[in-house]
Order: sequence, then structure tokens, then C-alpha cells
Amino acid sequence: MKKLLIATGICLAACAPKKNLKMTVENHSYSNYKAVKVNHLKLNLSVNFDKKELMGSAVFDIANTGAATTMILDHKSMVIDHVAVDNKEVKFEIGPQDSILGAALIIPITPETKEVAVAYHTLPEAEALQWLSPEQTHDKKQPFLFSQSQAILARTWIPLQDCPAVRFTYEATIEVPPHLMAMMSAENPTAKSKDGKYTFKQPKPIPSYLMALAVGDVEFTSLGRNSGVYAEPGMLKKCVWELADMQGMIDSAEALYGPYAWGRYDVLVLPPSFPFGGMENPVLTFATPTIIAGDRSLVSLVAHELAHSWSGNLVTNETWSDFWLNEGFTVYFEQRIMEKIYGHDYAEMLAEIGRGELQHTLDDLMQEAPDDTKLFLNLDGRNPDDGVTDIAYEKGRFFLRRIEELVGRQAWDEFVNGYFKANAFKTMNTARFIAYLNQHLLDKYPAQQQQLDINTWIYGTGLPKDAPVVNSKELKRVNEAVARYTKSKNPADIDTQGYTTHHWLFLLRGMPALSMADMAALDKAFGFTGIGNAEIACDWYTLAAKYGYADAFDEMGIFLKSVGRRKFLMPIYKNLVKTTTGKALAEQIFSEARKGYHAVASGSIEDLIREAQPK
Ligand SMILES: [Zn+2]
Repeated sequence: MKKLLIATGICLAACAPKKNLKMTVENHSYSNYKAVKVNHLKLNLSVNFDKKELMGSAVFDIANTGAATTMILDHKSMVIDHVAVDNKEVKFEIGPQDSILGAALIIPITPETKEVAVAYHTLPEAEALQWLSPEQTHDKKQPFLFSQSQAILARTWIPLQDCPAVRFTYEATIEVPPHLMAMMSAENPTAKSKDGKYTFKQPKPIPSYLMALAVGDVEFTSLGRNSGVYAEPGMLKKCVWELADMQGMIDSAEALYGPYAWGRYDVLVLPPSFPFGGMENPVLTFATPTIIAGDRSLVSLVAHELAHSWSGNLVTNETWSDFWLNEGFTVYFEQRIMEKIYGHDYAEMLAEIGRGELQHTLDDLMQEAPDDTKLFLNLDGRNPDDGVTDIAYEKGRFFLRRIEELVGRQAWDEFVNGYFKANAFKTMNTARFIAYLNQHLLDKYPAQQQQLDINTWIYGTGLPKDAPVVNSKELKRVNEAVARYTKSKNPADIDTQGYTTHHWLFLLRGMPALSMADMAALDKAFGFTGIGNAEIACDWYTLAAKYGYADAFDEMGIFLKSVGRRKFLMPIYKNLVKTTTGKALAEQIFSEARKGYHAVASGSIEDLIREAQPK
């Protein structure tokens, strides 16, 4: 707030935040999007790594269908330099700041207004933008920038109507340092330009949370008909090998649920400090480098992001309370892609692991916040990120799987195909989905309709009794091995032939209490310490930290210094800080590793170490 006032000093009279303004908030947005329709965005930005700043303009083609006297945009962590309406500079107002929503940018317009142009620059704290130093990248030579707009962070790098109910097309000109490449959620270059200028076009209307930008020293390799991968030069080869099945996934997805709508499907593998898994930015998925396991065992993440090209990007949740429509459909669809490529047993194994994670979340939430176990969440007045739990993903998936069980796969698949086609490039909310589901599917199956209690599934807490049961043959095999091992403590009793990453995880998570000798014997038998697969490494080093298995500590330190995904860091640090010696080790590793971590990750670990009470 302070920074904003100082920075906007030159136009203080026109744009000082108006504390007495009472703003209406709908769908986590101040914008009057129902009255003022944005059709197209022209974005013009230059990228300044030294200042951690984007500077330029956002120009909107609008139709003032509601004859509104103002156009209201969302914005946060940025300075509005000036605003023009149909090429004429106007005085604008800024509403009061909210820590979650930012502030309203209020622009006077007339019923005839066609174009609104906002000149602005972002502030270093813009939450959507991650500015990485060369040290935080894989090759350690050039800086890197990437955005993460979902759920309501697009407003921290573009002033816009930031809510998923609004769709618009866009074009952009992005200027970057000449030795770097710019990429967006649009048609992308495959080579660097000489002058650092790039132009983009996204001719399909998208919601604001799918606006995306990345800038870095990356190269491109094609993977097939309409797919390819971008990565830093030093890791590109590995990425290409790992993602070899990607074209097959696209073809399988199309065979299941209709044509892919976005032209190309490429993946950008981000530097190690990317603290998340993946983001389904249209045309260009952003992915964590930890999927590069060296054995193609973690590519279900790509199947997930690809599936979003239909569920989410094509048919979009209208509000964040309807988030389960995006994610539940996507997890369901992801499993169908995995089944097509790797077979039923493999896909069922993933589903059972998902079921286990759902149970974990349900156990926690039913104690702390039972209402958050409903599929349809009331997120008014809350940060929409509160809705990002396994409930939307896994409970959503099992609800859809239950419908498939009831009506049979053929009828269900026909319905899903029709659903994507009829609602393409539109938004969907929970109530309309239920009506659509009844009208286009369940009404034809009255007996099954009777059996399905939709209201309990969607508006009730916990997991309904008729939730599908998953029985993975593969995991049963692992359970039996764990039972044998628990009695004998002899690693030879574990037959690991044909094990994938998921078998190993299930094995490690099912282990009984282990002595130092047990840890050493397991390590000798299976070579866990120093393993390249980040998922297995994380689970193994978590056990090493828990039991104080010092032989693994050197490699554990190397792992903690080379990986930045928070999901992998937290369990290891959490177990380390439980003892005095472990805490000292955690502090020592963290002091060296933190420069490679993203702020989201280092902040969490810092809190963890500070609050630790070792025994
Ligand atoms: Zn997702």
C-alpha cells in the first residue's frame, strides 16, 4: 500500500486509493464483467530482470453491453501509469486494497467505448511472477522468469477482469534480453529471436488464470506431429527421452474425448526451483523437472496437464467454488489416458494411491474443517487456493467413476464426449452441470439415477458409502511383500521384479518400524541412497531422517540442494528437525541449499526450522 502510494505520486489526485469506495466483489473479482465484455487483449511488455519488473500496456477491445459508466479491472502489486479510453487519456480511480483480492481499477467509459488501454509496471513482489537468479536454474548461466496465474494471481502481472467466467483472445509483444527466449500460453517460437522481441497469438478465448509467460535460456525439440518440449540446454536431452510417450498421450486423449482444440501441445520443463508440479497453460504446459525420473515412470503428470486441455481449458469452472469440475474431470481423464497407454493394472495402481491420499486428506479435514470435504465449496471471502486439496481432485474423480460404474463405460464416454463438445470454450458451474448430467445421461437410466445420491456427493461432507472400491493387483503384491518382510526383516522376501516408481513408494510407505541395521540391509539390497528418481529418493530420505540413518546423509544433502519442489523438501526437513542432531544438519543443509530454492519453498522451511522443538 505504501509503496503504491509513493510510486503513483505523480497522479495522486487522480488515483489515490479511495478508502471510502464500497466495491462489489463477485467471483473473487471487482470487475463488472457482466456489463462490460472484454473480447480481446493486446499485451505489450518488456521484461527487466534487474528491476524484477514487467513494463508496458494492456489494451482491451470491449463491448459495453450493459451501458456501464465505468469499466472495473482487478489489479495487485503493480503501478498504473496512465489509462486511455479510445485513445484519450482519462482520470482513473483505485479502490481500497484487499490482501487477497488486490484493488479495483475504475475507469470511466461510455456506452460507445471500444478500447481501453492501461499502461503499467509490476512490482518485484508480484505473486504470479517468479524471478530466478542464474543459480536457481539448472544450467546456472542465465536468469529465468515464469508466471503462475491460477487462481487469482493474473491480476499481479496484468490489470484485467480476473475471474474464470470471463474468456478473451489475446495477442502479445514481449521484449526480453536478446539471449533469452520468451514463451506464452499461445503459439510459441521454436528458436531465439536475434533482437529479443517475440510476438504471440492466442486465437482461442481463454480465462485469465491461463495467461502465462516464461522467459529463459531454453531450447526446443519436437516430439511428434503436434508436440514438443522446451527446456534449458543442459537438461533438454533427458527431457526428450522421458517424454517420448507424449504424442501417444495426445492421440489417446483425442480418441477418448474428441479433438484437441489448441493446435500444438508442448511442455516447458522449468528449472529445479519450480516449487509446484505442473500448470496446464494452454498450448504450453509448465512442468516440474522432478518428472524427469530417468525411467518414464512419472509422466502421469503430463497426462494430467494434457487432460486439462479439455476439462478446465475448454470447459472451465465458472467460479473457484466449482473447481472440482476442473480437477475431478481431469484426474478421471488422466487415469483413462494412463490406462490406454500403460494398461489397466498400472492405471488402477495410480487410482489406489490416489484413494490413499484422499483418505489422508479426509482424516485431517473431517477433524479441522469438515465443510471443506464438500465437492462444491463456498469460497466467498476466502482465498480460492483454500480449495486446492485432494477433495476437488480425488473425491471429484471417484464421483465421476461412480457414475461410470452405474451406467457403464460406453454410455459414460458418449456423455463426456458430448459434454466437452456442447460446452467447448464456455464455463460450467455445479448446478448447471447437475442439470446437464441428468438431462443428457441419468434421465435415460432411471434405476441407476435412483441409486446415485448426487446431493450427498456434491453438497455433503466426507466420502459417500457408494464410493468405488479400488483393488490394485499390483499393490496387493506389494502389501503381501511388506507382510512377509515385517515378520522376517529379510529384504530377500521382497520380490521387486517389475517394480515401477509407484510400487516402490507403496513399499516404503508401508514399511514397519526400522532399526539402523534394517535400513542398512534395505539400502544394500535395493540401492536407495543416491537414487535419481526424486519420488523414491524423497520417501527414502524421509525414512533416513526419521531413523537417523547417517549413511544416507551425504546423498540426502545433495538431493536437498538439487531439488526445489516443496512436496519433496518438506517431509525430509520435517523429520530432520525432530532431533537436536537432525536439526543441526537441517540448518547446515538449508544454509547452502536455500539460494537454489523458490521463496515459496524456502519460506516454508524457514518456518519449520524456527518452530522446531527437537527432542
Ligand atoms: Zn489439475
